[in-house]
Amino acid sequence: MSKNKRGKALWRMPSRGRGTCLICGSTRIKLLYIGKGLSGEKVNVCKKCEGKQVTNSN
Ligand SMILES: [Zn+2]
Repeated sequence: MSKNKRGKALWRMPSRGRGTCLICGSTRIKLLYIGKGLSGEKVNVCKKCEGKQVTNSN
């Protein structure tokens, strides 16, 4: 396993690995974990939302 959640790998990502979490709505948070979108697709989410599914509640 490479350290793809740390260091320079982040800087190769769009927005450097940061953005708004689709699940909890936190802004400028690191989106390094995989959750499920509305259709079950993979989406990037923050650490506390890892493995969760996006809902339409917000
Ligand atoms: Zn989140």
